[in-house]
Amino acid sequence: MKKTIETTSPEETFEVGRQLGLSAKPGELYTLDGDLGVGKTVFTKGMAEGLGIMEHVNSPTFTIVQVYESGRLPFYHFDVYRIGDIEEMDEIGYEDYFFGDGVCIVEWAELISELLPSTAKKITIEKDLEKGFDYRRIIFEL
Ligand code: ADP
Ligand code: MG
Repeated sequence: MKKTIETTSPEETFEVGRQLGLSAKPGELYTLDGDLGVGKTVFTKGMAEGLGIMEHVNSPTFTIVQVYESGRLPFYHFDVYRIGDIEEMDEIGYEDYFFGDGVCIVEWAELISELLPSTAKKITIEKDLEKGFDYRRIIFEL
């Protein structure tokens, strides 16, 4: 299924993420691609809220993965932007997360494409400056 949602504010993107978090199921892995500053982390924060996570969610830039266990399901937030070598994924034991019973979201998933299972659900966020500075197109290929 391919679906596109357009937003014109960070709050709206957060809400799209929140709705996904409300309906997310155990074992799901979502990939999240798009340029720097497009809204991947805003989306992820919404998703965390939808999963019932009350903690503050920030991009795990220096740790690759941040684990949240206070919600309805475990939530594993990856940001692989600064990964130097794919081996780093093995070192953190990514398979336990990718093939576990929680929900994974992977910012910059295209950088680790060879590790992604074929069941991954793909989300891409794009800007379109002709439509305004705060316009975003969120494309789901689920
Ligand atoms: P990324 O994680 O993709 O690098 P962030 O989520 O950290 O991006 O930052 C997105 C930035 O874009 C924020 O400063 C946010 O306020 C701004 N922004 C403006 N319009 C939107 C929108 N429609 N959706 C999401 N973020 C938006
Ligand atoms: Mg980010």
